[in-house]
Amino acid sequence: MQQLTTYLQRMREELHQRPEVAFQECKTAEFLAAELELLGFEVRRGVGKTGVVGLLRFPEAGPCAALRADMDALPIGEETGVPYASKHSGVMHACGHDTHMAVALTCCRYFAEHKSACKGTFMAIFQPAEEIVAGAQGMLAEGIFDEVRPDVLFALHNWPELPLGTMGIQGGPLTAFADRFQVAFRGRGGHGALPHKARDPIAMAAAGVQGAFAAVQRKGDAMRPRALSFGTIYGGSSFNVIPEEVVLEGTVRTISPEDQRDMIHLLEQAFGAAAQMYGGTHELDYQAGVPAVVNHEAVCQRVVDVLQKRLPEMSIVTSGLSSLIGEDVAYFLQEVPGALLLFGTGQPGAVNELHNPRYLVPHEGVVAGWKAIQAVLDSYLRP
Ligand SMILES: [Zn+2]
Ligand SMILES: [Zn+2]
Repeated sequence: MQQLTTYLQRMREELHQRPEVAFQECKTAEFLAAELELLGFEVRRGVGKTGVVGLLRFPEAGPCAALRADMDALPIGEETGVPYASKHSGVMHACGHDTHMAVALTCCRYFAEHKSACKGTFMAIFQPAEEIVAGAQGMLAEGIFDEVRPDVLFALHNWPELPLGTMGIQGGPLTAFADRFQVAFRGRGGHGALPHKARDPIAMAAAGVQGAFAAVQRKGDAMRPRALSFGTIYGGSSFNVIPEEVVLEGTVRTISPEDQRDMIHLLEQAFGAAAQMYGGTHELDYQAGVPAVVNHEAVCQRVVDVLQKRLPEMSIVTSGLSSLIGEDVAYFLQEVPGALLLFGTGQPGAVNELHNPRYLVPHEGVVAGWKAIQAVLDSYLRP
């Protein structure tokens, strides 16, 4: 155990120092693949660009349990000041994916060391590009599960909203459908002194934004979480010229396909009414993004039971964990039953914010996360 937690820390520090952003995780991938080969895993490299999959088949037949770890870092300059801080300037594991990879490698090492006592198959999935929610789809498109399909799949994320050492396990929707849209309002340009001769797309955009917010607030079901935000607005070239066109972009977050359809409908109505009010037109380009992570209820119940039995000292939170972020492990969980589990990293006085240049997952939290997921995987592979 001591050896494994030392290994966990070493892997974490090693990976933390060499962060790479989405789809550029080449050195990370090579490091992981080499480590897996040392441990006796069958290794597939370059799955969905920079993804790596390791497979360990145990002597006795049994289920296949998979653990997915995301690999990418963020374009953020690290300010934690730790001795193992990023050596790549302007890039940092500010979402703690280094700890997810280190946990997965430690599970790999554990299973390699206990091979004869286990049954079935362990699959370690190192997935690139989680931050741009593109990596999981890439791996699926390349047939990651064609040869061996897991019976259950887990993923972990560090979670500063939860106190250090706590595990978060919640069945049902955990994250959101994270979509993006672009809307163009088109009118007729003209002189700022003669607005009655023009058809003002800036007025349409202003009415469209307000109308959309009002529609969501007054027509959307208040009991169902959803978010609408505009992120960009472009239009115009001079203070006294009414432009021809204004283009806005934004994001919509919902927790079900029904709510998603409802939001598209509300946006269409609000933007249409705004364009019409000023005699113009609108065009909405709505792109559905990553679906919500829906944790399987039965799997979550089993995880809670296993942890209560095997790690009775661990505190567990089973509700209030939902958020409207997007997480592309959702695509894997549409294929295979499983769950995204959260391990707490929040500490009083610390920077408890993912994607912050001073955010650092405490080692104690990583150890707790590993112990929990190891106990869960054991319940399938080493019962
Ligand atoms: Zn992130
Ligand atoms: Zn993350």
